[in-house]
Amino acid sequence: MTGLTLALSKGRIFEETLPLLRAAGIEVLEDPETSRKLILPTNHDGVRIVMVRASDVPTYVQYGGADLGVAGRDVLHEQALAQGGSHGLYQPLDLKIARCRVSVATRADFDYAAAVKQGSRIRVATKYTEIARQHFADKGVHVDLIKLYGSMELAPLTGLAEAIVDLVSTGGTLRANKLVEVEQIMDISSRLVVNQAALKLKRDLLRPLIDAFASAIQP
Ligand code: ATP
Ligand code: MG
Repeated sequence: MTGLTLALSKGRIFEETLPLLRAAGIEVLEDPETSRKLILPTNHDGVRIVMVRASDVPTYVQYGGADLGVAGRDVLHEQALAQGGSHGLYQPLDLKIARCRVSVATRADFDYAAAVKQGSRIRVATKYTEIARQHFADKGVHVDLIKLYGSMELAPLTGLAEAIVDLVSTGGTLRANKLVEVEQIMDISSRLVVNQAALKLKRDLLRPLIDAFASAIQP
């Protein structure tokens, strides 16, 4: 392959990457929300977009299924903790898009501070088991981690867990489910990730793109 393959995920990351692509002169020619195509063409013959799950972006870039991609710090940090490092991934830019935070939330009637102080075991449901494990280990809080793949908010409401570790942006979803944010773990934004081999072999194609992205980042 002589061209560039960029891995993106649907939703916020795709939408917020479009202006950066535009700054590099790249227009995506189909809408992933309506198209059934997994590979989207652009106005550049040499640049194509592959649509993958948010949590699969680092994997595609790491193993060269894509030359570069955009991934949340949540996904990158979780994968790095699980793998003991971010092998083969170069992270040149914080794109400052898709901003949110990873937080601990509980039902409003659960006294989290008291449970922590008493040294109680707390059941925590999350898809971020590595981030959660490290956070609670650092605090010396005993937790039973319950791995979920979606709708974390449901766990405290059904008695599956006392707490969740999940992404929060406006807090609207938590409020709608009568949950409260009791602790912030880390601030999240999306990063540009580049395959380390591609960075050398496709430097002439990648460098201008990385530079154009860098100049278009909104503080
Ligand atoms: P998957 O399908 O892989 O499990 P997902 O559907 O949970 O992923 P999305 O909710 O589409 O993933 O989120 C993708 C990325 O967008 C997250 O990893 C995060 O970095 C960012 N993100 C998610 N929710 C928000 C939000 N509310 N505000 C800002 N950014 C967010
Ligand atoms: Mg999704």
